[in-house]
Amino acid sequence: EANEKESMYLVSEFAQKYFHSTLLNTDEGKAIGYSYFKERGFTKETIEKFGLGYSPETWDAFTMEALGKGYKLEYLEKTGLTIVKEDKQFDRFKGRVMFPIQSMSGRVLGFGGRILTNDKKAAKYLNSPESDIYHKSKVLYGIYHAKQAIAKLDNCFLVEGYTDVIQLHQAGVENVVASSGTALTPDQIRLVNRLTKNITVLFDGDAAGLRASIRGIDLILEEGMNAKVCTFPDGEDPDSFAKKTSHDELVAYLSDNAMDFIQFKASLLMKEAKNDPIKKAELIRDMVTSVSKIPDKIKREIYIQECSRIMDISEDVLFNTLAQLVQKDI
Ligand code: ATP
Ligand code: MN
Ligand code: MN
Ligand code: MN
Repeated sequence: EANEKESMYLVSEFAQKYFHSTLLNTDEGKAIGYSYFKERGFTKETIEKFGLGYSPETWDAFTMEALGKGYKLEYLEKTGLTIVKEDKQFDRFKGRVMFPIQSMSGRVLGFGGRILTNDKKAAKYLNSPESDIYHKSKVLYGIYHAKQAIAKLDNCFLVEGYTDVIQLHQAGVENVVASSGTALTPDQIRLVNRLTKNITVLFDGDAAGLRASIRGIDLILEEGMNAKVCTFPDGEDPDSFAKKTSHDELVAYLSDNAMDFIQFKASLLMKEAKNDPIKKAELIRDMVTSVSKIPDKIKREIYIQECSRIMDISEDVLFNTLAQLVQKDI
C-alpha cells in the first residue's frame, strides 16, 4: 500500500540523517567512522554528496532515537533497520560505516554497512534486507548521482562495490554505478538502458571472479546494448586504482583498456582452452551462445567474423552453431 511504503521511505530517510550526523557530530563517529573514510581517501565533500554515515556500537541507540521521534516500530522492522526478538528491539547496524542506497530519484531504499576491520572471518558488508521499498535485483548503487553523467557521456561504467563508485566520482568519473556484489539482473540493466546503450564493465583485478562475472554480461547483449569490459592490475579494484592515480591517468587507463566484450571473451576463452581440442569445442559453443544473445542480425554476423579470427575456427562452423542456438530461441 502506498502509505505504508511512504512510511518506510520516511523512516529510511531519518536513518540516513541519523547515521550521517552520528558520523560527523559524535566523538565515536568522528574517531572511528570519519577517520576510516579519511583513510580511504574520501573528502568531506564526497562524504556529504553520498550521505555516508556511521552506526554506533550500541544495542539500540538508533531504534530508541527513532521511536522517540515518533517513527513506528512497524516500519523500523519492515525496513530491517530494527530487529525485533522476543519483544526486544535491536539495531541491525552496529559499529559500521554506512552507505545509503538510493533510487533513481534519490529516495533512500536501504543501506550497506561495512565493518571497520579487515577481519576475514566477519562478513565485510551487511545490507538491508529485501523489503517493499528495497528490491536488490532492481537497484544500482549510485544511479541517482550518476544518471546525468551517464546520459551526457552516453556510457555507463559498472563496478562491483560501493567504494568503487565513490572513489571514481571523487576522481571526476561520475558515470558509474555498482551492482553491489549481486549478480547482474535484467532489471538493473534496464535501468541503465533508459540512459544509454553503452555499458563498460570494470572488473576487480582478481582472476577468480572473472569467469563467473562474465556470465552476467550476456544479459547486457540480450537487452540490445553494447558491452565493453576493462580489467585492472592484479590486486587492484577501481577504488584502489583511482585512489593512486590522477584524474587524467584514470581516464586514459579506462579508454586505453576498455575492450569490446565479445573480443575480450573470445581471447579469454582461447587462453583457457590452450591446445585442448575438446575444451576448445566446448568454449566455442559458450562463445557463440554469447553472440546469439545479440538481437541485431548484422551485429551478430560481424561478431561471428571476429570470433572466427580470434578463435581460429571457420566462420561456417560458427554460423551453423549460431543457427542452432538462435532457432532454439524462437
Ligand atoms: P572494500 O574496498 O570496502 O573492501 P569492495 O567493494 O572492494 O570493498 P568486494 O569484496 O570487492 O568489496 O565486493 C564487492 C561488493 O560486494 C561490495 O561493495 C559489497 O556490495 C558486496 N559484498 C562484499 N562482501 C560482502 C558480504 N560479505 N556480504 C554482502 N555483500 C558483500
Ligand atoms: Mn550533511
Ligand atoms: Mn572490490
Ligand atoms: Mn575495494
